Amino acid sequence: MNEEQERRAEGIRRMLEDIARETRLTAPFTGIEELDPRVMQAMAEVPRDAFVPAELRHRAWDNGPLPIGKGQTISQPFIVALMTHLLEPEPRDRMLEVGTGSGYQGAVLSRLVDRVYSVERVPELTAEAIRIYQELGYDNIETRVGNGFAGWEEHAPYDGIVVTAAASHVPPALVEQLAPGAHLVIPVGPPYGRQELLQITRDQEGQVDTRDILPVAFVPMIDED
Ligand code: SAH
Repeated sequence: MNEEQERRAEGIRRMLEDIARETRLTAPFTGIEELDPRVMQAMAEVPRDAFVPAELRHRAWDNGPLPIGKGQTISQPFIVALMTHLLEPEPRDRMLEVGTGSGYQGAVLSRLVDRVYSVERVPELTAEAIRIYQELGYDNIETRVGNGFAGWEEHAPYDGIVVTAAASHVPPALVEQLAPGAHLVIPVGPPYGRQELLQITRDQEGQVDTRDILPVAFVPMIDED
């Protein structure tokens, strides 16, 4: 390994340790002591440095959010890992993401399931995410520009849905697009106010069960219709 590769490997190791530490620290809230090793493997595999702006690349492995332009952020690695864990991904699953952003969360998920669909309202962000996916050869992610409050009817039902912006309420369309037994992982709360990460599970009869996971801070989910 050359110096650059060693620095990178060290960065990834540090990020994984930070995620494991924050998982233990938040366990009193989440009830989760340790994340699925498959999720940790995906976090190790996906090059987060490819998804952050070039001038912030030296901070790509820090366990914090970073600005990606258009007033948006790439989420904190711990939160990405936790949300992915809460989806309980399986290799044959097809999942939906709302809020493509940098493309990072979708990329992590795409290493664990068969197919990822991702909706984003800002066309420039979608275009940049598509470019990165092509560069990395990640060919099981399909993106669309649109309002995620409506989900993506065409490919429903999904084996899991993750929302990476804070919604004022749980969008009914997303609950409707969940397969039986699937989870909707979503931060709910006022813009820049008290938000709670929820794991909502739909049962065979279409009834839902909601679990409060953790207080969080996400950029707002914008409903312009
Ligand atoms: N998953 C992203 C995080 C992006 S931040 C990542 O890993 O980088 C949240 C994203 O949600 C922003 O890009 C924002 O533009 C988008 N967003 C906000 N409201 C939305 C809506 N109603 N529909 C789709 N995307 C939305």
